[in-house]
Amino acid sequence: MQYFLARDSILKRLETPSVYHIKKDELYELDAEAFEFLKGCCSAEKGYGSDDKKFIDYCMREGILTKEPPYNKLRGTKIQNDKRRPPIKKSPVPSLRYLELQITDRCNLRCRHCYIDTNSISKLSLRGGRRDRRSNLKKEIATPFWLAMTDKDITSEKVKASELSVTQIKNILTEFEEMQGLRVLITGGEPLLHSRFKEINSILPKFFLRKSLFTNGLLLNKKMLKNLNVHEIQISIDGLEDAHDSLRGKGTFRIAIRSIELATESGFEVSVSTMVHPKNLMDFDKMENLFKKIGIKDWTVDIPCITGRLKRNTEFQLSPKQAGKYLKYGYGGGIHSGEKGFGCGLHLMSISANGKISKCTFYSDRAVGTIKDRLRKCWKKIKPIRLDKLDCDCKYIEECRGGCRYRAEMLGDAKGKDLYRCALYGQSF
Ligand code: SF4
Ligand code: SF4
Repeated sequence: MQYFLARDSILKRLETPSVYHIKKDELYELDAEAFEFLKGCCSAEKGYGSDDKKFIDYCMREGILTKEPPYNKLRGTKIQNDKRRPPIKKSPVPSLRYLELQITDRCNLRCRHCYIDTNSISKLSLRGGRRDRRSNLKKEIATPFWLAMTDKDITSEKVKASELSVTQIKNILTEFEEMQGLRVLITGGEPLLHSRFKEINSILPKFFLRKSLFTNGLLLNKKMLKNLNVHEIQISIDGLEDAHDSLRGKGTFRIAIRSIELATESGFEVSVSTMVHPKNLMDFDKMENLFKKIGIKDWTVDIPCITGRLKRNTEFQLSPKQAGKYLKYGYGGGIHSGEKGFGCGLHLMSISANGKISKCTFYSDRAVGTIKDRLRKCWKKIKPIRLDKLDCDCKYIEECRGGCRYRAEMLGDAKGKDLYRCALYGQSF
C-alpha cells in the first residue's frame, strides 16, 4: 500500500525534524527514519509504503497521511499541492515559528486600550464612503465616544495609514515559509481594512502556513467568510456587553458576537482574545461559560501594557494586584510562550505595517531592521531571553517564564519581574 503526505501536513526541519498539521495546529517531532519516510510520501505521483503498521496507523489517525494522492478541494477548486511544497531547509535556532504580520494600521475603532496611538482612521466608519453590507453597521459604530476623541484627527490632513503592499506580503510569506515558519497571524489595525485585502486573500492558499486572522469582527459577513482563505479567525471580546462596549464603542459587542456565530457556522476555527480592564472584572466566569458553550477552542486572556492610547485613558488601567489573578482564565495554546530555560516570544517575530521588524508589536519602536533587510537577518538580531539572566528568583519561573518582558520593562526593569504575573502566582512584591 502507498501512502501520501496529506495536504494539511508539512515537513519542517526545526530544532528537531517535525511534521506540522496546519489545520489542527499540531506539531509532531520525528526521528530521522520517520522524517525520511514521510519525505518519501511527499511525492504526489508514487506515494510511499512501509511495514511499520503502528506508525502508519498513527499517522492516518492524525490526518498526516492519506491513501489518496493529495488533491484538496479548496473553495471548490481542485488543487494539486505537492507541485509547490516549500523547500525543507534547516531552520535557524531558535526557529521562527510565528509571525505577527500587521498588514495595515488603519482601524475602524478607537479602542481605549490600543497600543497603536496613531491618527490613521478608516474612511469606512467615519466619513461615509463605502458602506458595509451589514446595513446597520455604519450607524452602530459611528455612535460614541471615539468620535468625540478623534474629531480633530478626522478633519486633519495628517490622517494617513501605513500598509504593506501585496508584493511585500508575498515576499515576506515566501521567506517565512522557507525559514520553516508555521503560523502567520494577520493583524492590524483592522486587517480587513487593507485597501487590497481581496488580493492578499487570494494569494494565501499558495502558502503552506497556518493563517490566523485577528479582527475586531465588525466587517465580517457571510459573503466575506465564504471566500476567506484562513484557518482561524480570532475576534476580540473584552467583556460582556457593557464592559466590551465601554472599551470599544457602543454596539460593537453584539456585532462581534454575531461575527463569531457566523464564522463558526461557516466552518472556521474561532478563537477569542480578551484584555483585562476595570469594567470586565466581574464578567470572567460568565465569559468562560459562554465561550465554551459556543465552541471557542482558544481563549487568550491578557492585561494590556500601559502604552499607546492606554497611557491617556487612565480609568482603564489596573494595578498588578487588581488584574493579575484574572490571568488564570483563558485556555488553549499561545504564541508568546518560551521553552525550557527561555522567556517569552522565543519563536515569535513581528512585522509592522511600515515594514519595521521587531521581537513583538510592543517593540516596534525598537526595530531590529526592516523588510528590506530580509527576515532571516532580522531574526538573527533578536536575542532569546534566558531565564537565568532575569531577576526572577521564584519557584514558578519555569511555568511563568518571567511573564511578559515588555510589561516588566514598563514596570521599571527589563530584567525584572512582571508584577502582574507575580500577582497571579501569589508572589509578594
Ligand atoms: S514582550 Fe510581552 S507581548 Fe512581547 S512577546 Fe513577550 S509576552 Fe509577548
Ligand atoms: S512569578 Fe514573577 S518572579 Fe516569578 S517568574 Fe513570574 S514574573 Fe518572575
